Amino acid sequence: MPEIDAKRAEAAVRELLIAVGEDPDREGLLDTPSRVTRMWSELLSGMSDDPSRHLERTFEIDHDEMVMVRDIEFTSMCEHHMLPFIGKAHVAYISSGKVIGLSKLNRLVEYFSKRPQVQERLTMQIGKALQTVLQTQDVAVFMDAKHLCVASRGVKDDSSNTITGFYGGKFQEENTKAEFLKYLDINA
Ligand code: ZN
Repeated sequence: MPEIDAKRAEAAVRELLIAVGEDPDREGLLDTPSRVTRMWSELLSGMSDDPSRHLERTFEIDHDEMVMVRDIEFTSMCEHHMLPFIGKAHVAYISSGKVIGLSKLNRLVEYFSKRPQVQERLTMQIGKALQTVLQTQDVAVFMDAKHLCVASRGVKDDSSNTITGFYGGKFQEENTKAEFLKYLDINA
């Protein structure tokens, strides 16, 4: 995937400033196009990354209990409004004999977050990628995020969070799902 075209992005930000009635040559705005471009290339860095790089190493291990990493902080970009949504992901799986390094779960969340997204798809992409790499259906992902597009415009509700979940294999069974949610300390 290509890196961000900085020249083009800067020209677009400058154009946007003019479109909203600003003077892009006044002192406070002079560096804004390049600042916004640098920020965007960070927020969208997952587009030029390669996910398999983070996931190729799995380990064989005799372990068939639930493994969970909770409170993985992430920032993603709402593709409808191009404003960030910020929250926490909680990821769990039951090993079929394969495990991956726990920090790889963070990298996976990061990778899929850093691109234009909707939270529902983000949750599913993380879950499906894990199912593939761990060769098991038994994967759950729970995401809880605040969307700046909801907090700052329209209904201006800055206290609401959006919750999305992905439950595969055994996590669709009542008791496994309940155990997962108990670890989350959430009654859902
Ligand atoms: Zn939005």
